[in-house]
Amino acid sequence: MVMEAPSVLVVEDETAQLEVLTYNLEAEGFHVSKAQTGDEALLLVDEIAPDIILLDWMLPGVSGIEICRRLKAGSATRNVPIIMLSARSEEVDKVRGLETGADDYMVKPYSVVELMARVRTQLRRTRPSSVGERLEFDDITLDSETHRVDRNAKEIKLGPTEFRLLSTFMEKPGRVWSREQLLDRVWGRDIYVDTRTVDVHIGRLRKALCMHGGTDPIRTVRGAGYALG
Ligand code: CA
Repeated sequence: MVMEAPSVLVVEDETAQLEVLTYNLEAEGFHVSKAQTGDEALLLVDEIAPDIILLDWMLPGVSGIEICRRLKAGSATRNVPIIMLSARSEEVDKVRGLETGADDYMVKPYSVVELMARVRTQLRRTRPSSVGERLEFDDITLDSETHRVDRNAKEIKLGPTEFRLLSTFMEKPGRVWSREQLLDRVWGRDIYVDTRTVDVHIGRLRKALCMHGGTDPIRTVRGAGYALG
């Protein structure tokens, strides 16, 4: 199981289109969830907390535009990038005009290659480690492509869980993560792990980060969780 794989929710009522997108996204290493109606999409967003959403404008029931509006108004979902897929360019103009908050849009028929590039562009902003970006914090660098971590130019050896923990922290320095949020992000929602396991791995990560000296960069926030810096 590769937990760094970003999860993509594809909302598209045309089965053939849905399959093409799923095939290409999976080939890129993404974890894909599919919805064919607006209601299904809204349920899945709650359930899987996707990293990005590809959203067809014309859907039976709740329309893509309405879903976009709702997600961009919700505090838990407003930062999830949404790429709208629209059948006609007039609709795109409407999308612009309505300012629904979509992060990007493509007009059908679109180039799948270009769509994949735009997906990566969005993720580079919101989940940089998932698309092979190099992250830096203070004297720590993390190369998500080679899985190498250095502190003060000396290599830090990390286990896979500690590496994922550090990637999560380095994507959003200063953000306080609860143990439950770290479990979702690092271990995945589909397996049961006790929250104390988080503390154990945080302890290992701290020890590793200080193996060549330096102060502990991870902050324990009482009653809330952990943060980097
Ligand atoms: Ca449609």
